Amino acid sequence: MADALLVLDGLTKRFGEQEAVRGIDLEIAEGEFIALMGPSGCGKTTTLRMIAGLEEPSEGEVRLGGERVNERKPWERDTPMVWQSLALFPYLSVRGNVEFGLKMRRMPAKERRARVLKWLEQVGIADYANRNIAQLSGGERQRVALARALVTEPRILLLDEPLSALDAHLRVRMQAEITQLQRRLGITFVYVTHNQSEAFAMASRVVIMNEGRIQQIGAPREVYRAPANRFVAEFVGTNNIIEGRVRVAEGARITVDTAHGDFTAAAPAGRAPAPGDTINLVVSADRVSLGAEVHGNAVTGTIISEEFIGSVVTLHLDIGGDSTFRVQKQAHELDTVDITPGRTLHASWRAEDTYVLPA
Ligand code: ATP
Repeated sequence: MADALLVLDGLTKRFGEQEAVRGIDLEIAEGEFIALMGPSGCGKTTTLRMIAGLEEPSEGEVRLGGERVNERKPWERDTPMVWQSLALFPYLSVRGNVEFGLKMRRMPAKERRARVLKWLEQVGIADYANRNIAQLSGGERQRVALARALVTEPRILLLDEPLSALDAHLRVRMQAEITQLQRRLGITFVYVTHNQSEAFAMASRVVIMNEGRIQQIGAPREVYRAPANRFVAEFVGTNNIIEGRVRVAEGARITVDTAHGDFTAAAPAGRAPAPGDTINLVVSADRVSLGAEVHGNAVTGTIISEEFIGSVVTLHLDIGGDSTFRVQKQAHELDTVDITPGRTLHASWRAEDTYVLPA
């Protein structure tokens, strides 16, 4: 990346014996919205804290605008952070909270007032400038925290699970607002979350971490459709993973023997497996059809359970050999299907919707 704003170069953090972050390399360009995502304890917050200067790297470098900033104090970096707890000052008004950073920088009062107003307007809470924090709703407090972090007009904003304390409805609304704000401002956002739908809805690129290491970096769609390894395939989306051995590899198709039958898949470009190779077939649950009409590959299973999430239903099928196969449908698509537990269903999917991962 020619003009990376933020570079993490071999970034490592050890707490005693434990390596929380292990040699992270990442380049982030001006204006990107990056989500750091992964399971609890994977090192995302520690990475963010090293960028902010709140944690000292054990090894490696943080570079901002081409300069090493490892030795700079948090307040000398211009990398403000929005916390999950928000950490607002309860005894100050909305205006007082937002103004705080400018006062610390000794900005003259007149300029300060105009700047505060500008940012209260940007986040849509100018009418509440004189209220106390205690008089605000959760969403309004969120906006104060954003305005307070953005008022110094940094090039980069760090956000650590800022929406996790909100209820589901407000959370989705704030996701959209923060995304629009970021696109409008063009300020780089680095956003830590363990919530997949949040990361995918908001970010231009997601960084999937596990055990202190980056597993994959890519646009949400890319990570979703082409997971780099088994960890990502299991962590992202709702994937069925079937291990098998390649029997035939000819031209654009491969045929794979598995415990659940023979399946065909499109040969992955540039890394075609050979007969005898063990591989994993990844079938996204939302690419599976139900019914007697078979689309290429098929399994037969007994319904174990159904799971409703809004308008999407996930069916869990017992396909034998201790394996569960998941099928995801829009609720209305199941209006005419009997999904009583114990019923037998045929599930099928196309060869081109079968993603091949090396085992
Ligand atoms: P979560 O989603 O649960 O917040 P995370 O991905 O943000 O997780 P980190 O907070 O970065 O994870 O922690 C990574 C690992 O480092 C964890 O195992 C954690 O226990 C450990 N760790 C973090 N901070 C410290 C510390 N100050 N001292 C010792 N160990 C720490």
